[in-house]
Amino acid sequence: MAEQLFDNHGRVINYLRLAVTDRCNLRCFYCMPEEGINYVPREELLTYEEMVRLLRLLASMGVSKVRITGGEPFIRRDMMDFLRAISQLDGIEQINITTNGTVTAPLVPELKVLGIHSINLSLDTLDRERFHRITRRDALPQVMETLEALLHYGIKTKINAVVMDGQNTDDLIPMVELAREHPLGVRFIEEMPFNGEGNHYPKLTWDHRRILEHLREAYPAIEKIPDPPHSTSYNYQIPGHQGTVGIIAAYSRTFCGTCNRIRLTPQGLLKTCLYDDGVFNVRNLMRAGASEAQLRDAFLEAFAHRAKDGWEAERNRQFGTPVSESMSTIGG
Ligand code: SAM
Ligand code: SF4
Repeated sequence: MAEQLFDNHGRVINYLRLAVTDRCNLRCFYCMPEEGINYVPREELLTYEEMVRLLRLLASMGVSKVRITGGEPFIRRDMMDFLRAISQLDGIEQINITTNGTVTAPLVPELKVLGIHSINLSLDTLDRERFHRITRRDALPQVMETLEALLHYGIKTKINAVVMDGQNTDDLIPMVELAREHPLGVRFIEEMPFNGEGNHYPKLTWDHRRILEHLREAYPAIEKIPDPPHSTSYNYQIPGHQGTVGIIAAYSRTFCGTCNRIRLTPQGLLKTCLYDDGVFNVRNLMRAGASEAQLRDAFLEAFAHRAKDGWEAERNRQFGTPVSESMSTIGG
């Protein structure tokens, strides 16, 4: 039986978000610049063998849940082999994946067989032109195909939509309507400044309060439901809807008090908070010949110095630089 891991603030750590690539076939404007992206050289990416080793070690320390993300995870070669390998690991009880859904549809039957616990599908609009404008690619039909396949195969699915002033706020209600007909979670996320450039807006106009007000106007009977432990979203139910609605205050950072997650970037940088700039590089330690015991000690040391919340983590960044890196290097 694995031990339980705690940080210096008494928060359990049992959830790893693993970004398997920084590459992507979309260019969502809130995540990546259109051009001039410096991808991580291939030899600097964690190999699948290194990732399996890290997952095995972290599972023995108490991490039981993993989310595979990116960049777009399904454009990394041999991704399904990797999923097959990690689905066999002792102690990993849940594998979740975040995907943009552009190339995922044909893989859904095998994801079902592998017992993938849930898929988060990123989808900001149901309108093809708006999709094209936001992602800079005309790929809505492929994403909708993935959504249909996920529903058909009964894989637990959440739709993640970033709410952007002047871009997709007309989509909020049509997206909530998807949860009327289907047992889906539809979650609206505040935009964060992780776009490779910095803040898009001088002030966040669509914060979690405004999103809720907007939903209330359309659905006066919307009601708060209990949030699962460690949830990053405030969750709601609308009478007559099969699914639920969630709001993620990602910019406002209201969820740090129960944060159970750590992150590994594609090049092996450990982040103990979304807003920090990396604690140490696990890949370098491994490639320098570190033993399991040495890796374990390095993780424990990092967990003993975790920032209290995203505001503290951002203040502690080297040279005090505010966040501006692309989310594709972090994984969300
Ligand atoms: N490519 C996959 C996808 O889009 O689902 C996985 C990686 S993507 C970086 C993970 C999540 O981060 C997506 O749901 C995306 O909407 C979200 N994201 C990216 N940039 C963001 C930003 N600036 N603010 C809020 N969420 C963001
Ligand atoms: Fe790619 Fe996901 Fe970033 Fe969009 S949000 S550019 S799909 S990594």
